[in-house]
Amino acid sequence: MKETVKKDIRALSKEQLRDFFVSEGDKAFRGNQVYEWLWSKSAHTFDEMTSLSKATRQMLEDNFVINHIKVDQMQRSNDGTIKNAVRLHDGLIVESVLIPTPTRTTACVSSQVGCSLDCKFCATARLKRMRNLNPDEIFDQVVAIDNESRLYFNKPLSNIVFMGMGEPLMNYNNVIKAIDKITSPEGLGMSPRRITVSTSGVPKMIKKLADDEVKFKLAVSLHSAIDDVRTTIMPFNENFPLSDLRDALMYWYEKRKSKITYEYVVWKGINDTRKDAQALVDFCKFAPSKVNIIEYNPIDDGQFQQANYSAIEMYQEVLERNGITVTVRRSRGKDIDAACGQLANKSN
Ligand code: SAH
Repeated sequence: MKETVKKDIRALSKEQLRDFFVSEGDKAFRGNQVYEWLWSKSAHTFDEMTSLSKATRQMLEDNFVINHIKVDQMQRSNDGTIKNAVRLHDGLIVESVLIPTPTRTTACVSSQVGCSLDCKFCATARLKRMRNLNPDEIFDQVVAIDNESRLYFNKPLSNIVFMGMGEPLMNYNNVIKAIDKITSPEGLGMSPRRITVSTSGVPKMIKKLADDEVKFKLAVSLHSAIDDVRTTIMPFNENFPLSDLRDALMYWYEKRKSKITYEYVVWKGINDTRKDAQALVDFCKFAPSKVNIIEYNPIDDGQFQQANYSAIEMYQEVLERNGITVTVRRSRGKDIDAACGQLANKSN
């Protein structure tokens, strides 16, 4: 007997679902109903779609699958941070994190299984890139964290950051589709202003974001504004040098006119001098900017060390004097390897 491969139903647009029902001799409107079950109600099975007849549910079952993610393991940190190890339909695992503060709960989600970039300080880089996540797999991570936020903190998720595993701009189309679903009233209805996509800086894709007039925020993981230094710690900088990154960000700023955020870790002996801080000022002064100095989360081998506090104070002073907003951010969830750069599927 010929085995037919069932299609992932969530790869279909609403239009395609409507067409499918018409081709089955049913009403197009049925497509809207199924779309709502899939995206606003996050149904895991066709059986849950109780507004459809049993026969229709069976017909869907015969033709399609819902490749829902499964939270395989949930870990809770002493500081309230939650990390989910999420199993995908093909058995691969990614991680996502819920970060609670008194005023907000933030989901940190993954965009790829592993990562193709080779940032020397990041644990995910060691996993290499296995594949891109599909839009529904990104969406499901957000839904899972929203549910946990309601359950453990009695409030819905308020913010989303694409700072989990992977480089979101190297999975551009799927990330954009996932955000469309997250922000659409037919999905989760979240405001795009509460979503931040973090990139190590892929110039062509930053320009594309500007052309596509996306409404979410952009953060750039800069870590050094000196090419030689940046190439040593983020080797892809060789192909995407700082001048190209800056051009792309200028283009973005011309169109968007909103502050650009940079993420920056200060390491001992790598980027902790006044020259490094001045290069950062020179790099970002073309537009209103904000620098988030993030704490380094050690990833075992001791090659990188957090700079002394005096170096961080020096950065703060130099940036503020030049009118650049600075925040110094403490890590969350370190005890369960849930902090920035620590996601490496360790518990699996
Ligand atoms: N690829 C994207 C998103 C994932 S990394 C990007 O590069 O922005 C999310 C953030 O964690 C980035 O700013 C990254 O530079 C930072 N990061 C990676 N490893 C880290 C570590 N060990 N300690 C602190 N921050 C780290």
